[in-house]
Amino acid sequence: MKRVELRWLARGSCRHPAFMTMRGASLCATDFPAMVGLIRHPDRGAILFDTGYDPAFLDATEPFPERLYRWTTPVAISPDLAWNTWLGGHGIAADEIAAVIVSHFHGDHVAGIRNLAGLRLYCSSAGLAELRRPGRFRRVRQGLLSALVPAQCDADCSFFEEAPRVALPSDFAPFAEGADILGDGSLIAVPLPGHCAGHWGLALRDEAGRAILLAGDAAWSIDAIRRCVPPPRLTTALLGETGVYRATLGHLHAALVNNPGLAILPSHCAQAAAAYEAGDAV
Ligand SMILES: [Zn+2]
Repeated sequence: MKRVELRWLARGSCRHPAFMTMRGASLCATDFPAMVGLIRHPDRGAILFDTGYDPAFLDATEPFPERLYRWTTPVAISPDLAWNTWLGGHGIAADEIAAVIVSHFHGDHVAGIRNLAGLRLYCSSAGLAELRRPGRFRRVRQGLLSALVPAQCDADCSFFEEAPRVALPSDFAPFAEGADILGDGSLIAVPLPGHCAGHWGLALRDEAGRAILLAGDAAWSIDAIRRCVPPPRLTTALLGETGVYRATLGHLHAALVNNPGLAILPSHCAQAAAAYEAGDAV
C-alpha cells in the first residue's frame, strides 16, 4: 500500500451512558469524542475521513423533530469548532483539503460537510440513499439529519460500491478485500456493516508503515473490540441490524488479536486515539 500521513483529531464530543455503547458497562454518562482523520496523500493533497461535529449540527437540530436528536444525545460544540478556527488550530489550510471520505451519514460524522461543498465526496451509495429517503421522523430516529449534507453534494459523490475491489495486505486479516477509492492502493474502503445502512471503514498504511483500520462506529471503543462485547440489542436494533453488527464486531476482534501491529481506531474511542497519538499499540 502506498503510505499516507494520518492525524487523528477530535472535533466535538457527545455524552452517553456508557452502558448504551457496551453491554455491562457503567450507567454513568461518559464523553465520547468525534474523531476526524486528516490524511495527507503524497499526490492527492489532504483528504478528510469524516468531519465530526460542527456548529451546523446545532442549526440542523433546532427544529422539531430533529431536536429529539440533540435531546437524546447531548453534544459539546464549542466556538472553536467553527471550520476555519478548527483548521487553523491544527495547522491545516482550508485550500489544501481536496476531498472527504464519509464512513456513514450519521449527524456526528457529516456535520461539517457544508464546509466542503464542491469537493469530491467518497461514500456509500446505500448510505446516501437512506439519507435521502423520505420520512423526517424515521431519519431522526436513525441519526440522520439530511440538512447537514446539501443536495448539491450528491453530484460530487463517488461511491465505494463502484470502486475497483482489491485484496488487502495480510496484516488486516480476516478483512480480505475492499474498494480502492483513489485507484492507487493507498486508501481502501472496507465494508463494516450492521451499525447502519452503508457503513464502511478505511484501511491505510501510515508513514511509519503501520496498518491502520479506521473503524467508524462499527465499535464504540477498542475495549469493546478487545473483549468482543457489543452494545445492548436496544442500541444496535434502533440504528441498524444487531446480528450483522455483532458479526462485524467479531471480525474486528479477530483482526485485533491476529495482527499485533494493526491499529484499529473507532471514531469515538478516546483511549485508542491517545494510544495512536503516542505511537503505542492500540
Ligand atoms: Zn458516530
